[in-house]
Amino acid sequence: MSAAAEARYGVLGWPVGHSRSPAMMRAAGLQRYQHLPVAPEAFEDTVRALGPAGFRGANVTIPHKHAALRVATRATDAAREIGAANTLTFGEDGAILADNTDAPGLLAALGAPPASALVLGAGGSARAVIWALRRAGAEVSVWNRTPGRAEGLGARVVTRPVAAEVLVNCTSVGLDDSSSAFKDLPLDADTLSDYATVVDLVYTVSTTALIAEARRRGCSVVDGLEILVCQGALSFTIWTGRPAPLALMRAALRGPRTEVDVA
Ligand code: NAP
Repeated sequence: MSAAAEARYGVLGWPVGHSRSPAMMRAAGLQRYQHLPVAPEAFEDTVRALGPAGFRGANVTIPHKHAALRVATRATDAAREIGAANTLTFGEDGAILADNTDAPGLLAALGAPPASALVLGAGGSARAVIWALRRAGAEVSVWNRTPGRAEGLGARVVTRPVAAEVLVNCTSVGLDDSSSAFKDLPLDADTLSDYATVVDLVYTVSTTALIAEARRRGCSVVDGLEILVCQGALSFTIWTGRPAPLALMRAALRGPRTEVDVA
């Protein structure tokens, strides 16, 4: 086993048992990658203990992305400018480096940067998505259920949807299978064809209603699992210095679940 594969890794969240990152990262060869459920009050002490306990890296999810940036001893420009980190790397000297691969992960999933985009949502993932799209030269509009939260993110705040090349859902609408329709979003099915590409960050066990309808309307689609693969692949490369085995990672997420996967 290589040194990178022998090191420990994990995904920090609260709760985090739903995360598919362990299945995906173990398939990529990081066999000692695990769920790390950590309550907010224990987050900083736990993170400082990970390096000495043999961890090389950790992904970070809700609700810890801001705290991950605060606890780091160094941060990339992306993490600092977005104000959140989803990837931590532990150095032997106690250093903790914070990075944000959500932003470049979205651009990687899109392939070519779009000229314009409408982002739905103004939470942590929307901040990263808006930052990435603007840096790539796109004209970005943002809609949020609570419009005040969309101010100051660097995008034009809109109160109803506007046409754009790409639509990105960064709300959590669709996460709960029982309300899997997108009625809480300011969209109707007929207007989806205003967007060449529809991206849904939400991932569930089945296709979200938004992705299914966009596909029916002839849009090209990028679902939440592909976004997960692209951000995870960048974290893998940061930790190992190697390109990620994308096909293995996709297969681990899209194939049938195993006992290890749901552990
Ligand atoms: P967050 O910071 O909690 O933000 C949640 C957003 O959803 C807010 O804009 C909120 O609007 C909006 N929202 C929640 N319920 C709503 C409803 N019923 N109607 C309309 N808007 C609603 O969450 P986040 O970190 O940005 O994550 C958002 C989603 O993306 C989650 O499902 C997360 O799992 C997913 N995600 C996926 C990936 C991936 O790799 N695929 C990566 C990151 C995030 P208000 O401001 O009005 O409350």
